[in-house]
Amino acid sequence: KMKVAVVGSGIAGIASALRLKAKGYDVEVFEQNSYTGGKLHSFQRGDYRFDYGPSLFTMPQLVDELFGLFDIDSKSYFKYKRKDIICNYFWEDGQQFQVDADKNAFIKNASETFNESESNLSDYLESTQIKYDLTSRLFLEKSLHKFSTYLSKDTLKAIFNLSKLHLDSSLNDVNEKYFDHPKLVQLFNRFATYNGSSPYKTPGIMSMIPHLEMNYGAFIPKHGMHDISQSLTNLAKDNGIVFHLNQKVDEILYEKENIKGLKIDQKEHAFDLVVCNMDVYSAYNSLLKKTPPPKKTLEQERSSSALIFYWGVNKTFKKLDLHNILFTEDYKKEFDHLFNKKYFTDDPTVYINITSKEVDGDAPEGCENWFVMVNAPTNCGQDWKAQTTYIREKVIAKINKCLGTKIENHIEVEHVETPETIEVATSSFQGSLYGTSSNNKFAAFLRHPNFSSKIKNLYFCGGSVHPGGGIPLCLLSAKIVSDLVPQA
Ligand code: FAD
Repeated sequence: KMKVAVVGSGIAGIASALRLKAKGYDVEVFEQNSYTGGKLHSFQRGDYRFDYGPSLFTMPQLVDELFGLFDIDSKSYFKYKRKDIICNYFWEDGQQFQVDADKNAFIKNASETFNESESNLSDYLESTQIKYDLTSRLFLEKSLHKFSTYLSKDTLKAIFNLSKLHLDSSLNDVNEKYFDHPKLVQLFNRFATYNGSSPYKTPGIMSMIPHLEMNYGAFIPKHGMHDISQSLTNLAKDNGIVFHLNQKVDEILYEKENIKGLKIDQKEHAFDLVVCNMDVYSAYNSLLKKTPPPKKTLEQERSSSALIFYWGVNKTFKKLDLHNILFTEDYKKEFDHLFNKKYFTDDPTVYINITSKEVDGDAPEGCENWFVMVNAPTNCGQDWKAQTTYIREKVIAKINKCLGTKIENHIEVEHVETPETIEVATSSFQGSLYGTSSNNKFAAFLRHPNFSSKIKNLYFCGGSVHPGGGIPLCLLSAKIVSDLVPQA
């Protein structure tokens, strides 16, 4: 039987392992950390459980599909529920707005709150769906780097509808064209951060992102976000996939353009096919040192990173739900700082995620587990200790103003992650959360393909390669890899 090695057990690595196992290969996964899941893992501090990274779960059908490969009803491993409230938004002037998962309720509420016509809101949501439908099969579900993709009906459809895709204007331009109210523009601009980009630079086509949340829904796994990677790890183990933890791969071995295997701790391990889930930039710099790197691809601007405070809070807050945003007063300045100045702005947007609102046991009775995240520039050697002290003060002041509390008196346990620590823990170059940014209209074409054009039987999956970052796209990258690999 042909043997496959997967380097890294991020969500895309696990999904690729499952898909290739289902295709008849023998599969082993090598992971440098002591846990699987990569950015999608969980840790405990005192009586509080925290998800390390992702907090928003969309398109759960892509996870269910993996159980289907083994004829297993996903419910026996993995349960999740749909949220009725998608997000609570707060502004400095005291205004609040709750995004209801019910589309009609959202349209009605937004129309009343922001003095916007219902038909305009409904047109906007429809346009997000049209963009998604026109491009998802082309840009997200297939390799963009195979000639056959360009000969399809989907491509023709997209080309005939190019003007609807808003490739030549920014997301902010598109939103400003639709809406008069700056708060509504800001709310829809925020979707650029779902792939770590700036709404003032990312093309208008990105207004397809709200479609995933507002038309498809937002979900929460029964045991928190890490349940996604853990239940898939369990599915993999139960089906004979072997995981080697604490095994850092040092080199991908090949001879005359043919894969030979992996080198770990000076030892060579023979494999017929390798799927690399490590960040592709880091992979060329460490695992493939002898291979000429695709320079233009690796030079692309990285997506933003994050500074996260994980707080065990000994109080509960009725005003807050699972997802909460405390907006900055100057969004443009915030993104200018993130992508140009590479430092924090003095009034950052603060995201608070509280899984204990939904997940039993994540915090003690009467307490909450807060994941407090500020978008951060990529790690270019800034003094993160000083930056953390600076931002912690600003974040606390903002929360106190918004909630009328003194949150610093309620923090029982604390853990902090910075772009630097994220880079170390995940090997994600510069600590970026989503691989390369989508800050220009060619970004989709400049991501690394899901296969190597130089080395036969070497494939790439994960947030740093096509089609991009975030759990759904990572899962799609695994699907594309599996479609490119022949049956065993
Ligand atoms: P990664 O999770 O990057 O994992 C790669 C794995 O490879 C790691 O386990 C690493 O240890 C391992 N590895 C690397 N090098 C080696 C080596 N040499 N040998 C062995 N193993 C190696 N996405 C969403 O969908 N929703 C969100 O709300 C969201 N929020 C986020 C918030 C934060 C703070 C972060 C960090 C990310 C967030 N994301 C979110 C993005 C999402 O987490 C990622 O896109 C996705 O999890 C990346 O998965 P991946 O498969 O690319 O691998």
